[in-house]
Amino acid sequence: MAKVCIIHQKESDGIPVKDDIVLRAIRGVKKAFRASTGNQLVVCKAHVEEAKKRRAKFEKSLLTSALIGALFGTVMLVVSILSQRSIFDILRGILLLVFLVVVMAALSLYQYFPALEEGPQKKRAAKPTARAAKRTRR
Ligand SMILES: [Zn+2]
Repeated sequence: MAKVCIIHQKESDGIPVKDDIVLRAIRGVKKAFRASTGNQLVVCKAHVEEAKKRRAKFEKSLLTSALIGALFGTVMLVVSILSQRSIFDILRGILLLVFLVVVMAALSLYQYFPALEEGPQKKRAAKPTARAAKRTRR
């Protein structure tokens, strides 16, 4: 399996990107159209900083969009509750709120950038030390 840097789109060694729901969806679509290249996505050392920046930007935009959607939706929901007594109007308001959050989150996907895989050995090493620290305290 070839390793391809997702930033300069060429074969190179590097840190693998974290598999998430978006990447899995893209892969699923590619497989369905038999367009899957079977490459492993990595970020080469030269592009690690840029990858982190783009990931941070994406996370920020996703969060901001979801918050704006939730805020607008909540305002509309409150207005509909205050102005009408019909349960259907309130339900419509809730649906609209969910819809807005989903749309706002989807809009920020154009900035999508996968997260980098943290070294698994790092995580495994961190857990026992935390447990050991607790034991020594007792
Ligand atoms: Zn690169």
